[in-house]
Amino acid sequence: MKKIVIAIDGFSSCGKSTMAKGLAKKLGYIYIDSGAMYRAVTLFALQNGFFDGDKIKTDELKSKINDINISFKLNENGQPETFLNCENVEKKIRTMEVSSHVSPIAALPFVREILVIQQRKMGDKKGIVMDGRDIGTTVFPNAELKIYVTASAEIRAQRRYDELKVKGENNSFDEILKNVVERDHIDMTREVSPLRKADDAIELDNSNLTIDEQLEYLVKLVESKIA
Ligand code: C5P
Repeated sequence: MKKIVIAIDGFSSCGKSTMAKGLAKKLGYIYIDSGAMYRAVTLFALQNGFFDGDKIKTDELKSKINDINISFKLNENGQPETFLNCENVEKKIRTMEVSSHVSPIAALPFVREILVIQQRKMGDKKGIVMDGRDIGTTVFPNAELKIYVTASAEIRAQRRYDELKVKGENNSFDEILKNVVERDHIDMTREVSPLRKADDAIELDNSNLTIDEQLEYLVKLVESKIA
């Protein structure tokens, strides 16, 4: 069957990865979480002392950018996990510390340049679902199917709160809501590849959709594209 590229973009914590993962599994496609790549660069910067408070030591990060190797491997449950220079960092990249430093890192043009090259390579054989902020606009402007996901900031913060709680991280709801709103602002107003809906993307507000309803809707869209 013909394979396509599926780009899923949208605000932070609106369930893009659950959606993209579920869709990839259903279709037998590769799933790539591009946000995990920006998170891994952020973790690298934090671990190497490239933050001075909130300020990034840009020149130092730039001089080490080629030392950063990011890959994904499936775990025993078939879930992709992120590796930074051979270390499994899947848990470390999901902490609030990384979440609160990632958007300024993702706004750096040299970081985006290098990650976009790697993301395009991952999609060159098609059969891929990638989620992020600039997948339909910059990484795969010719993707056959583009989805732009939205949901209210409160609903998104609640989802992230529940997710972190399960992982044993007890952050306050207000702190998470603040982080979600701040990241959206930085992501939408940065100069390089800001978050925006591609002209040919389908907007999906999933505030009131269950995961199964959402998947069913997406599978129908894919079928219509393949047909
Ligand atoms: O998707 P996730 O929330 O894990 O992404 C973390 C951060 O990485 C986002 O807030 C955004 O700043 C950045 N990002 C990006 N471009 C992408 C994916 C993520 O700028 N394609």
